[in-house]
Amino acid sequence: MNSPVYEIYAIKYAHHMRRAGENFIGGPIGGDAHDGPMPLDYFVWLVRGPGRELLVDTGFSAAMAAKRGRDHIRCPTQGLKLLGTDPKAMQDVVITHLHYDHVGNFDLFPAATLHLQDLEMRYATGRYMCHECFRGAFEVEDVVGMVRRVYDGRVRFHAGDSELMPGVSLHLIGGHTMGLQVVRVATRRGAVVLASDASHFYANMEQVRPFPIVWSVADMVDGYGRLRALAQSPAHVIPGHDPLVMERYPAPSGELEGIAVRLD
Ligand SMILES: [Zn+2]
Repeated sequence: MNSPVYEIYAIKYAHHMRRAGENFIGGPIGGDAHDGPMPLDYFVWLVRGPGRELLVDTGFSAAMAAKRGRDHIRCPTQGLKLLGTDPKAMQDVVITHLHYDHVGNFDLFPAATLHLQDLEMRYATGRYMCHECFRGAFEVEDVVGMVRRVYDGRVRFHAGDSELMPGVSLHLIGGHTMGLQVVRVATRRGAVVLASDASHFYANMEQVRPFPIVWSVADMVDGYGRLRALAQSPAHVIPGHDPLVMERYPAPSGELEGIAVRLD
């Protein structure tokens, strides 16, 4: 029997304008003169296989966008519905890490088992959250919500690398947060790696210039090599926040232009 291959859709749900210097430790190369605009897009990713779907991350709500000064374009569940997926029926959701922009809406997925790394829960509930520099991108209500979800029996913990289903595997990278995981997916064009915030932009991994929100710079830099090793080619690594993703990949249909692209 052939192993299954999957379709992957990146669904854009928010946007944030910022300067290049905010996206690299040490700021822009060449000083302030080159500190031009370098905005972020925000995505969730739908993986669709034979008889099975999986969501990677859940995004944030309009209320959270207002609180944090981001431009909310649409609820990620709206993007899913446009792709013919019912969020309420979604069985499996991978949470790459617990930052507010990746875990905000999980109450909209009541049937789902959430897949999380042990180390991420330890990080989000432990001693490092005493410091603003580490907790800044976490929202306490999201973390508490995740704890409640554990007590509801709706979280499956993973420790390191793990096969989620045939052709879909989770890989612990760390770096950006202690328990950041990425998702490798078998597709018709080979293994695609959804890097999430293991590399926010193509430039972070390609130029080995780490993003400034970081738990371990060493693990983040090692992670860039890990992403390349996991993927069919460097072009098979999908960064977590790069607007170039919307340019490099095609919309699945005319109506989804600017809303979603197909990565497989
Ligand atoms: Zn992020």
